[in-house]
Amino acid sequence: MEKDKIWLSSPHMGGEELSYINKAFDENWIAPLGPNVTGFENDIKKYLTKNDASAIEVAALSSGTAALHLALILLGVDRGDEVICQSMTFAASANPIVYLGAKPVFVDSEEDTLNICPEQLEIAIKDRIALGKKPKAIIAVHLYGMPYKVDEINSIAKRYDIPVIEDSAEALGSKYKDDYCGTFADYSILSFNGNKIITTSGGGALITKDLQAKKKAIFLATQARDDAPHYQHSEIGYNYRLSNICAGIGRGQMQVLDKRVEARREMFQFYVNLFHKIKGVRVFEEPSNNYFSNHWLTVIEVDELKTDGISREELRKCLESENIESRPLWKPMHMQPVFKEYPYYGTGIAERMFKNGLCLPSGSNLTDNDRIRIKEAILNCFIK
Ligand SMILES: *Cc1c(COP(=O)(O)O)cnc(C)c1O
Repeated sequence: MEKDKIWLSSPHMGGEELSYINKAFDENWIAPLGPNVTGFENDIKKYLTKNDASAIEVAALSSGTAALHLALILLGVDRGDEVICQSMTFAASANPIVYLGAKPVFVDSEEDTLNICPEQLEIAIKDRIALGKKPKAIIAVHLYGMPYKVDEINSIAKRYDIPVIEDSAEALGSKYKDDYCGTFADYSILSFNGNKIITTSGGGALITKDLQAKKKAIFLATQARDDAPHYQHSEIGYNYRLSNICAGIGRGQMQVLDKRVEARREMFQFYVNLFHKIKGVRVFEEPSNNYFSNHWLTVIEVDELKTDGISREELRKCLESENIESRPLWKPMHMQPVFKEYPYYGTGIAERMFKNGLCLPSGSNLTDNDRIRIKEAILNCFIK
């Protein structure tokens, strides 16, 4: 009999989600607005600001991708503009640049957090300016929950006066110097897709410190209707608001977010202990106490020169044969067929990590029995 599949990251309900959904049904709020939407926005605000909820504004949206699209529009990104984007990320970080007819400029990762490299970022900015075009924005990503080098990136952005869009899709619950990811930039985004640390089945949020910007985001996200009794439009709008049903799931999920972070961090610790004795495998840890990762996914790098020839791909296949899902890191955007004509600045770190890196099952709902199976599969792979 085939063993049950162990997933990389699967939805994990807390228990209260249905009560918020039932309330929406009882009150007939079956729409992309309503009390759950407002409640969910307030939950996120309170969480990210540790109860100083006036410090940020949150707009709940239909996806993280929609949030990135609106952030770029609010920053005035237009046809022909250039936007810098971390190369090693999910395509959703870069796609909205192209929706607007703008041009992505990709930048490599650094070794410590696997996120946008400050040195390469500055080289890219200088070169783009020298070529006649100052980038309109920088999209930096907290990949797999690990905060990027926030101080370094912010100081470069400030020096050249370029706004930052913080892609926190994978980093809800992560912190840098004790402040939550999602609060470090002009615009930040979250995702509540099915595989993220909490989910609304599909959804996202845009975070800003500017109330007017939030209002504009909601205006654009609800078809850009002018204030008139009839339907009048002076701008192009979108249908990007989160539904009151999905927001109900989100409200239930916010109640258990800290538990989800704790469980993911325990999975990470499990892998640290497991690989401690295996030569040639590096588990990506926080580079210093300034970093607190939600460890959405635990990432390892396999150096086959030191593992007696066991490669990343071999380990992945070992796990697959035991019905355990694992996955190579995001294929860098500058290596993607669809983005190959765009500029790239780097030294090959993202490429190396794409070749040797592996994401391991990290869900908050994995059981002791799952961990035993994962451990056996990994040990058998390295010991055979
Ligand atoms: C998931 C994800 C997104 C997009 O979020 P959706 O809600 O799926 O649209 C953007 N950036 C990163 C890094 C992601 O992992």
